[in-house]
This record gives sequence, C-alpha cells and structure tokens, in this order.
Amino acid sequence: MRILLLSDIHGNLEALEACLSAAPPHDSVVNLGDIVGYGASPNEVTDRSRALGSVFVRGNHDKACAGLEGLEYFNPIAAWAALWTQQVLTPENYEWLRALPSGPLPIGQVESPAAKIDGEDAAAMPVYAVHGSPADEDEYIITLHDALDVLMRSSVRLTFFGHTHVQGGFSLNSADGALVLNPSYVTKTNAEQIDFSLDPATRYLINPGSVGQPRDGDWRSAFALFDSAAYAVTFFRVPYNVESAQKRIYEAKLPDRLALRLKEGR
Ligand code: ZN
Repeated sequence: MRILLLSDIHGNLEALEACLSAAPPHDSVVNLGDIVGYGASPNEVTDRSRALGSVFVRGNHDKACAGLEGLEYFNPIAAWAALWTQQVLTPENYEWLRALPSGPLPIGQVESPAAKIDGEDAAAMPVYAVHGSPADEDEYIITLHDALDVLMRSSVRLTFFGHTHVQGGFSLNSADGALVLNPSYVTKTNAEQIDFSLDPATRYLINPGSVGQPRDGDWRSAFALFDSAAYAVTFFRVPYNVESAQKRIYEAKLPDRLALRLKEGR
C-alpha cells in the first residue's frame, strides 16, 4: 500500500497542484489537516482535497474556519485569515470542514517485515494519523523533548503528524536513543526527494511537512509517501508558482505577511 501524505495545505492551490503533479503513483491519500486558513484559495483547495477521496484528520484551522472553535488562541493575522475564510467558504465546504474527524485515526498497517518486537507481531502494527499529537490535536511536537514525551508514552510504532509545518520527525529505539530526522536536500530550488527506510524496532513520529506554508526555511512545497510493504517513507520538496499564490493573497486583501512568508519558508 502506497499512501500519499499531505498536511497543512492552508488554502494554497498552486502548492497543492504542484505536489499532486509531482507525486508518484499511490493507492490512497491521507490528509493530516489544516486544509484551509492563511491562503487565498480555500474553496478550490477544499474541492480538490475532497475529490482525492482521502482519509482526513481535521486541523486547528479547519476547526476555526468552520466555526467550531473561537479565535482567541489565534494570533491577529491567523484570526483575520480565519474570519476571511469563514466568509468566503461555500456553505457546502463549510459543513464538510465542520464534519471532519479528529485524530488519531488508524490509516493502515505495517505489512512487513514479519518480526516480533516486544512480543508483538510487527507486521500487524497499526499506523496512525494525527494533526498535532496523539494526545491532543492542537499540541505542537517541535522539539526532541516534545517528541520523547509522546514516544515514551505510547507503544505505537509509526505515527504521521503535521501542525508544525516542519518536514522530518523523530525516532526512538534502545540502540540509538532519541533522534531528530531532518531530510537534508542538495538545492533550495529544484524538485528533490529523499528515501528513508524505517526500522520495525524503532518508534517514529513523522511529519510530511506543509504543502502550503512551509516553516522550515525551505519555501518549496513539502509532502511524503509512505510505502507500507517496503516500510519506507520518501520525503519530497517541489517548487511551485509562489508568485501566483502571493498575488491571490494580495488580491483578497489578506495580511501581506501571509504572502511574504511563503517565499521565506517561515
Ligand atoms: Zn497548519
């Protein structure tokens, strides 16, 4: 089973289209939330996401833009964008976002290798999708300390998360301890990918990165592919028409900062 992992699209249609064009063949799509908020194409991105027939986990911006949560925890720019999004969403998309499930959601199983780990059959281990963290959909897993807190409390081998807009993740096993996974690319301009083999005896938290508003210093759109039979993840970065996404933000009279940050990857 090859699962395309998309997260934090944030109403950026140009970035989403670039990812879908670059994505290798896959069997299903898992969307880790924050489909809308910040970007100027919330309806187009929601329509496109819905048409992919994905498994969806809601994000905090999806909740806020669908009126499920107050905006008091948002900074002024995020709150402005959420209010704007609420106003432009079609009633159908608004209701669809409102009905999204919260994580963690099981998205499949590890298919191989058939090893016993801690007395469990590794090949039957479920894989989960969350927006923030398994314990709290709004919690950020930013530091190794944050990740350790999650990895040590749970026996789940593999969880995919989003919310931080930082591609990569964290791992924990008895031999190497806790590690940060940071894909290191060669360029800042080209389409690139990095293959990463997973070890069945290691627990992982893996973030495919943000499609529509990366914050890891790389402006290119980020996504990942999980191959459950090979037990491997491939991280991708693809350039997209950022000027077009910025122009839509200016035309919508959303805060300039939301356009400027796209090119900075911050
Ligand atoms: Zn987000």
